[in-house]
Amino acid sequence: MKSITFNHQNTSAIGIGTWHIGEGNNVRTEDEMAAMRFGLDHGINVIDTAEMYGEGKSETLIGNVLKDYHRNDIQLISKFYPYHATPKLIEESLKASLKRLQTDYLDLYLLHWRGKTPLSETVFGLEKMVKAGLIRNWGVSNFDRSDLEELFSVTDGENCRINEDLYNIGSRGIEYSVLPWQKKNHISFIGYSPFGSDGGEYLKIKPVLTDMAQQKDVTVYQLLLAWVLKNHDLLSIPKTSSVEHMQSNLEAVDIDFTKDELELLDKYYPKPKHEGQLEVI
Ligand code: NDP
Repeated sequence: MKSITFNHQNTSAIGIGTWHIGEGNNVRTEDEMAAMRFGLDHGINVIDTAEMYGEGKSETLIGNVLKDYHRNDIQLISKFYPYHATPKLIEESLKASLKRLQTDYLDLYLLHWRGKTPLSETVFGLEKMVKAGLIRNWGVSNFDRSDLEELFSVTDGENCRINEDLYNIGSRGIEYSVLPWQKKNHISFIGYSPFGSDGGEYLKIKPVLTDMAQQKDVTVYQLLLAWVLKNHDLLSIPKTSSVEHMQSNLEAVDIDFTKDELELLDKYYPKPKHEGQLEVI
């Protein structure tokens, strides 16, 4: 498995996304757990979840899988709701997440998106959890460049380790200023929804993708994931509930592009030319 530097550590090139898992019947749960185990057994060492996902069901499923692994080998990321972003509610949410995940610490704890609580209060609460040893580090999600600048202006705001935003070939907005800003300030980036979440509503699959996938003898999904990973400078967290798809996603890590192929894709899915509104799912 190829690796990247993420959160100041050597990390697998892809992590495991877990939105919508743990919410179905027994058969689906077994499939989801098998897919997660397959990923972990083949070198993935990051899992992304949130208290929001199935209102804790995703975290519960992950806790059941992680019982069979060495906790320290895996970077576990969870997120709290913006309306739990005060110091008191952060602590309550975190303790509930830790219980569901059957662990005593998180590697990263993220504010899921911005809400009404001042960032200074949220950062104070997160730093308290670091000091208590309940989280190693913290970060944010769905922040644009101006949000990040504001975060850096509050006390201890520069201790933010990561920002997680939407990133796929059809949603490239973060390339304009978020990614360069994060690189300059040494904050790792996680790109979510590499397939556009449902593969249709948000991300339009154009014939150039199907044609190129056929030429390269890969699937369109593999092409989409490989495209996100092409610069080896960010973590992508595809979600799958199938061993077959997990295997396919692991193989996509090794797909390379020629300069001509990338230029052709840029023609149909252009780079951002100005700073637009942050895209979210
Ligand atoms: P993805 O873009 O990862 O797409 C998931 C869909 O792709 C599922 O329908 C899955 O189906 C399908 N899929 C996965 N692999 C393959 C494959 N190889 N071939 C065919 N189909 C495939 O969507 P998500 O929105 O789930 O994003 C990934 C993760 O990012 C989330 O799970 C979550 O952890 C995080 N996220 C974070 C957000 C935030 O606000 N911070 C917002 C949204 C997502 P199947 O299960 O059948 O394989």
